[in-house]
Amino acid sequence: MEIEKRNGFVEFVKKYGMFVVVGIVIFAVALTFTLMATIGKSVPAGNTNLNFKLPMNEASIIKDFSNSELQNNETLNQWEAHLYVDFASENADVFAVLGGTVASVENKYLDGYTITIKHANGFESIYSSLNENMLVKAGDKVDAGQKIGTADNTAEGELKMGAHLHFAMKLNNNFVDPNNYLDLQEK
Ligand SMILES: [Zn+2]
Repeated sequence: MEIEKRNGFVEFVKKYGMFVVVGIVIFAVALTFTLMATIGKSVPAGNTNLNFKLPMNEASIIKDFSNSELQNNETLNQWEAHLYVDFASENADVFAVLGGTVASVENKYLDGYTITIKHANGFESIYSSLNENMLVKAGDKVDAGQKIGTADNTAEGELKMGAHLHFAMKLNNNFVDPNNYLDLQEK
């Protein structure tokens, strides 16, 4: 019985060995591509090894991010989504949340003086309602935690909130909730 079985197996390998090898190779290649595709897709928006710092020291969130629930904007007297997080602190210093390159420094309609920094992995951080005396210019390289300006009340659209930082983050040009990246519990 044993010998017959073994012979059967040898026969099988002789007859079909090539197909088995080719099959295994195809399977391995397919598996590799599947794994690569899965890994590529499964790097979720919130899961990065980037070490974000907070944009202000000892700040409180005076208005949080919301993309579905509308919030009242007392200045403009309207209900609106707020794709930003507003920070206020006695210490008005504003810091880059991550190293990167300053993409723009501008005075924006409703948002006031605004610095935009481009980071790795498609991230951008946006700092609005700043004092006009900003410490960086477009093209500057900045480090995480580097002071870039001070919070003020230059955002016409949020004047009634007083001096604060109107802060946003984008990933691949889409606004994302900074709560997913910054450790805002430690504020
Ligand atoms: Zn705001």
